[in-house]
Amino acid sequence: MNNNQLNDNLLNNNQFSFEITKKLENSLTRAGIIHTPHGDIETPAFMVVGTYGKVNLLSPKLFHEIGASGMICNGFHLSKISEKIEAFGGLSSYSKYNCPTITDSGGFQVMSLGSGVGKVISMDKRDIAREQAKAKEKNRLARVTDDGVYFKKDENSDEKLFTPEYSMEFQHEIGADIIMAFDELTSIGDSRKYNEIALNRTYKWAKRCLKKHKELSIERKDKPYQALYGVLQGAHYQDLREIASKDLGSMDFDGYGLGGAFEKEQLGDILFWCDTILPENKPRHLLGLSQPDDIFVGVENGCDTFDCVAPMREARHGKVYTPDGAINIKNSKYKNDNDPLADGCQCPTCKAGHTRSEIRALLKNTMDGKSPEQFKKDKLLAMELLTIHNVYFIVNLTKEIRNSILEDNFHNFRDKWLKRYYKS
Ligand SMILES: [Zn+2]
Repeated sequence: MNNNQLNDNLLNNNQFSFEITKKLENSLTRAGIIHTPHGDIETPAFMVVGTYGKVNLLSPKLFHEIGASGMICNGFHLSKISEKIEAFGGLSSYSKYNCPTITDSGGFQVMSLGSGVGKVISMDKRDIAREQAKAKEKNRLARVTDDGVYFKKDENSDEKLFTPEYSMEFQHEIGADIIMAFDELTSIGDSRKYNEIALNRTYKWAKRCLKKHKELSIERKDKPYQALYGVLQGAHYQDLREIASKDLGSMDFDGYGLGGAFEKEQLGDILFWCDTILPENKPRHLLGLSQPDDIFVGVENGCDTFDCVAPMREARHGKVYTPDGAINIKNSKYKNDNDPLADGCQCPTCKAGHTRSEIRALLKNTMDGKSPEQFKKDKLLAMELLTIHNVYFIVNLTKEIRNSILEDNFHNFRDKWLKRYYKS
């Protein structure tokens, strides 16, 4: 058997596939199932962020109790312990979450050492000025070249080279079901010209990733198959997004990650430009964006999976998602509020009978006669209870969206849901 035949066999693997269960007429919206070696992901789905291979304040038991279907982890952080993870049999077992997993390429982390990479921001003049200033300092700790990214951990450390091949190597060792190609994420302050250069580089890197990925898949064919997603950039420029979608869409990727820095208001257009061109039969992951309205815009424009650290980060600061909008539990008006965090919520926190007033008292920033140990313990418990609730809320939202697609009721469900949540 020659290499080409081997490649074909691998790409026709039966461990990873995507089936579209239902697609709405004249629309990019679909519900489907991603089959992976570690289980199925029913889409649309929210992938919980487990930066270091575990989800902060959410044990594997709770993770499954809230019905989460998968976890996305930080490739850069895990690259430092990739051999250890491999010895455990890969990320799914290492993490003990035993679920489908994704790693990112590490690019976001390594480039953010030197440039002002940012995700979606709401555009005001201060934001733009700040992002432009960061973009000018691009060479501070990271230098992007065609070879890869030269980076330093700090000003005194030696420069290291981070390449597309290296990203494939450690992602193979980590062993997530879905891995991401190494791409150059630009910042919102970068010029059109710079975006053209970066996009061209991302295309070349995508080819190098695919080549290395195929070699590694052949070398490691006794391991579960790992699906490689190409990552699309092109900022807010329609022609660049279309070029990226055509170029990467014609390559042998198993799916696609949609990335980039742009204004929130442009999200729908950008996803539409990409997803009308990308092959329909491959799954698409929207990288790092999961406010409720972003999820609806993503689903409407053909995205299947989502991730974002916000539900957890916001929980730690007392922000609670409810069907009537987000509330801040620290607000004094919840002092004597004995309702659950959200009416009718089926998350383990609410089902166990915890109330707003109780969680508020645990989270409060004042000692109130508590010992420092008790103060810390209470705060941590409150953050855990809120994390469970918020993650459940978003996971459940994607499930409700999925059901609304299957029942041909997506637009109606979306309008009602958003009207209640954002009171618009
Ligand atoms: Zn709840």
